[in-house]
Amino acid sequence: MYNRIKILIVEDEESISNFIATTLKAHDYTVITARSGKEALSMIPSHCPELVLLDLGLPDIDGTQVLQKIREWSSIPIIVVSARTQEDDKVSALDLGADDYIAKPFGTSELLARIRTALRHSAKSAPGQNLDIFELPGLKINFDKRQILVNDKDVHLTQIEFKLVSLLAKSAGRVLTYDYIITELWGPYAVKDNQILRVNMANIRRKLEQNPAQPRYIFTEVGVGYRMAEE
Ligand code: CA
Repeated sequence: MYNRIKILIVEDEESISNFIATTLKAHDYTVITARSGKEALSMIPSHCPELVLLDLGLPDIDGTQVLQKIREWSSIPIIVVSARTQEDDKVSALDLGADDYIAKPFGTSELLARIRTALRHSAKSAPGQNLDIFELPGLKINFDKRQILVNDKDVHLTQIEFKLVSLLAKSAGRVLTYDYIITELWGPYAVKDNQILRVNMANIRRKLEQNPAQPRYIFTEVGVGYRMAEE
C-alpha cells in the first residue's frame, strides 16, 4: 500500500469520473476527484497529487483556465481529457503547458499508457536524469556526438533536421505542437509557418524511415504536431 501514485481526476460527469477512477484503482493508483475547476484548484495544493487528468468542459471555469492557473505555480504533469474534437483546443491546451491530451472516448490501455509516459517524463526532468542516447528498434541517436544511426549506419541530417529529431526524441511519447517546435528551432519571433516543418519532416522521414508513408519513429498528430515513438 506504500508509494502509490496519487492522481487527481477533474471531471464533472459522474459516469466518466467513476469509470476513470475504477480503471486507475485497478492499476494501483490512488485516486482523488474534483467535480469543478475551483474544487480542483483548491485540492492540488492540499492533496499534492502526482498527476492531474483534466476535463476541459467544466461547469464553473473553463478547463484551459484551470490549466493556466495550475501552471502559474506548479509543473505537475497534466493530461487534458477532452470531448472536444476541435484541434484548436488540443493545441492551446498543449501550448498552455499540458503534458498530453487524450480525446473522449478513449480506451483504458491508451489512458494508462499516457499516464505512464507523463509520469516518466516528470521523473526524467529531475536533475541527474539526463539521457545521452535514445534508441528505438533500428534507430539510435547520440545527442552528444550529434550522431544518428539507422540499422547501425550513419545517417547525415542537416543541423535543423537533427535539432528537430532531438527535440522530439527528448520528449518521446509526447506530442509537441507545431508552434512549440518552430519556437524551439527558430526562436520566438519566427514566422509560424508549418510548411517549413513539413518539408523538414519529409526529409527526415526519407532518411530515417523504411517506409516514409507509414512512419515507425515519428508520427503526425494531424492539425496538432508530431510525436516520437517511445523507447
Ligand atoms: Ca465535462
